[in-house]
Amino acid sequence: MNIKLRATNLIKKLKTSNPRDIADDLGIDILYLDLPKSIRGFLVRVLKRKIIVINKSLTRTAQLVTICHELGHVRLHPGYGYYYHATGTRYVSSRREREANEFALYLLSESHWDGLNIKLWKRVFTEKQPDPKLVHRILTELMEHDGVC
Ligand SMILES: [Zn+2]
Repeated sequence: MNIKLRATNLIKKLKTSNPRDIADDLGIDILYLDLPKSIRGFLVRVLKRKIIVINKSLTRTAQLVTICHELGHVRLHPGYGYYYHATGTRYVSSRREREANEFALYLLSESHWDGLNIKLWKRVFTEKQPDPKLVHRILTELMEHDGVC
């Protein structure tokens, strides 16, 4: 699966890389709720309607990163997480998590960020099969950085 292509095609099709606008265009609601600290967000499907639930105590940047991750599941894993999918704060090495993180990173790379670790991003983007731990590290750094998106 070419995740980079999937992400860039979606951006081209919808003419936006803003994760909130993408969710809106895809008919996905975003709910901001009080959740346990260990859960950043998850995806629910209720009667064919998709809802991304986000921990409202996250910073704005962390919320955006989490929305991008959940959008990855929406686009890459149809039928998966019918009831719920939780994205915790720890590194999870499953294939779906790796793919959702990669998708998120490509979406986020289309936005403008301050003080990025450009070197790391470049390393990811030149690799055919990016190191999932590196992708996870970049996303975590982004969330802690709380830059502008
Ligand atoms: Zn996930």
